[in-house]
Amino acid sequence: MMTGEQYIESLRNLKTEVHFMGERVANLVDHPAIRPHINAAAATYDLAFDPQHADLGSAISHLTGRRINRWTHIPQGQDDLVKKVKMLRAVGRITGTCFQRCVGMDALITLYSVTHDVDRKHGTGYHERFRRFLIETQDRDLLSGGAMTDPKGDRSKRPHEQHDPDLFVRVVERRPDGIVVRGAKMHQTGAVNSHQFIVLPGQALGPEEREYAIAFAVPADADGVIQVFGRQVNDSRKWEGTIDQGNPTYGVVGGEALVVFDNVFIPHERVFMLGETEFAGTIVERFTGYHRQNYGGCKSGNLDVLVGAAVALAEMQGTAKASHVRDKLAEMAHLVETMYSGALACSYECTKLACGTALVNLLLANTAKLNTARYYPEVTRLAQDIAGGFVATTPSERELDNPRVKAFVRKYYQTRPDVPAEDRIRLGRLIENMTGATPFIEGMHGAGSPQAQKVVVQRQIDWAERVQLASRIAGIPSAPRH
Ligand code: SF4
Ligand code: FE
Repeated sequence: MMTGEQYIESLRNLKTEVHFMGERVANLVDHPAIRPHINAAAATYDLAFDPQHADLGSAISHLTGRRINRWTHIPQGQDDLVKKVKMLRAVGRITGTCFQRCVGMDALITLYSVTHDVDRKHGTGYHERFRRFLIETQDRDLLSGGAMTDPKGDRSKRPHEQHDPDLFVRVVERRPDGIVVRGAKMHQTGAVNSHQFIVLPGQALGPEEREYAIAFAVPADADGVIQVFGRQVNDSRKWEGTIDQGNPTYGVVGGEALVVFDNVFIPHERVFMLGETEFAGTIVERFTGYHRQNYGGCKSGNLDVLVGAAVALAEMQGTAKASHVRDKLAEMAHLVETMYSGALACSYECTKLACGTALVNLLLANTAKLNTARYYPEVTRLAQDIAGGFVATTPSERELDNPRVKAFVRKYYQTRPDVPAEDRIRLGRLIENMTGATPFIEGMHGAGSPQAQKVVVQRQIDWAERVQLASRIAGIPSAPRH
């Protein structure tokens, strides 16, 4: 296993092509817009060595018997799924932001079982190939970027009906030694600080879409892989100062890139599905189940930090004892624990797949994510309510050193003699960081938009059974069909 520092150093050996603000980034690791996300990802490495959390941050590989980082582990039962959620909450509390590594983890978990299922139906050899890849990923403790979301073009059209066939990642050439792929994946969390990508189809596919039914792994710095890093609200503060960032070490939730595959060669040993269209839907269903499970873990951990900031600020500002503030804090805590409960519930209610992997309960996992999409904004609203309007109007940190006004700023932003104004400003900036547009949108659309969760909920609920329940109690002999 690598430490956080070793992980950071390992990124220096890559020649990953990333563009930001109109130019190619020469030094990814030390770039102010990217480094906070790298620091957050490094926390996933350090957790494995933290004596308080080592059991969460690491696991024993079921393939090799060796101790590995849990972000590369395939859950073997209920205990592993529960630990996955607890691990995410623990790191969410350490970083206060997204730590970038879970999409790849869920892609690994998903492909492990789906390759097994494809082989059973088609007699292919994907699973053995994938196990070799997984062992290498575990032993080298690599960070995988999971790449799912295609640009999708016109949403009313199928992949093969788009005006540009590259709007979904596809095979453009089959060679004796591998395939050539073209297309792009969007909104890729952790992409710029990944060692490799695991690319999966982003939706169910029909028989006429064989060229789109592909799963593969590729080094992040392979020829033809080009990334364009996205902007975040207030991101220029990252190269302007420290306090105004709110969370200068770990950044703002997100850190996403457009990842372009411009005719990239993938050797056969890294291809894990090629044309088996009927399994694309299975991949999406399992992957999203695992990833939606996460949101009750990482976001509850992040929001623990936000609750703490609201409490600390209320104490500084003399409002902590006000009954309406206490009520709002209790409401925040209740919503956070509701998110967490769903993540735990879908882990406890798991089932076993044919290959031995534990699968979360899909209804509960999707419900947990839907709760997160709905409650994250509500918790942030309450934090802003408690914090007060100064969060939106505080002057730049540079005024704290401006000889003409620094004394005035410190004097008028101070609430109590024992608390420096700067401490209050720091907490206000943290709340601003965690409640702004980027985390808000990420909490809604990350792991799929709320409507995608409702589709799964609709599919998973046995409506007719519920009608029967009501009809029996109401004394209606034959229930109407749903
Ligand atoms: Fe992990 Fe949460 Fe970030 Fe997704 S949003 S990568 S689950 S920390
Ligand atoms: Fe996410």
